Amino acid sequence: MISREEVAKNLRENSTVHTTDEVYVALLNCIGITYDYANLLNRLADLIDPTCKYLPNVHAVWFDGNDEEYEDTSLEALGNSENAYCSVCGYEMLTGEEGWFDYEHEEHGNRLIPRFNYCPFCGARVVRDEA
Ligand SMILES: [Zn+2]
Repeated sequence: MISREEVAKNLRENSTVHTTDEVYVALLNCIGITYDYANLLNRLADLIDPTCKYLPNVHAVWFDGNDEEYEDTSLEALGNSENAYCSVCGYEMLTGEEGWFDYEHEEHGNRLIPRFNYCPFCGARVVRDEA
């Protein structure tokens, strides 16, 4: 995928457009979108406001009364704190007593509430998982 810096450079080099059609085509070209036009707005949003989630390394898995298995990758397994990672860059942050998260106890696992707003490694805004 084309980087933010490359997109910005392309946009600056193509700033001599005159019509709506030219703007649209230039925008798609600058962002590196060829056929997936519906993705243009999402890609723009990601460039303006990159986001990530911090997910537990050991997520909640449980079974119902019929031995049907369920899992929730956003919940940390009960009694099993093994850090959490950034969904964009994979950077790991400490969980548990000394960690960087508050805990919200739920029936099948613990919801991690990050005490930071941006990933310290990739800089993406951390989106919190609300129950
Ligand atoms: Zn990150």
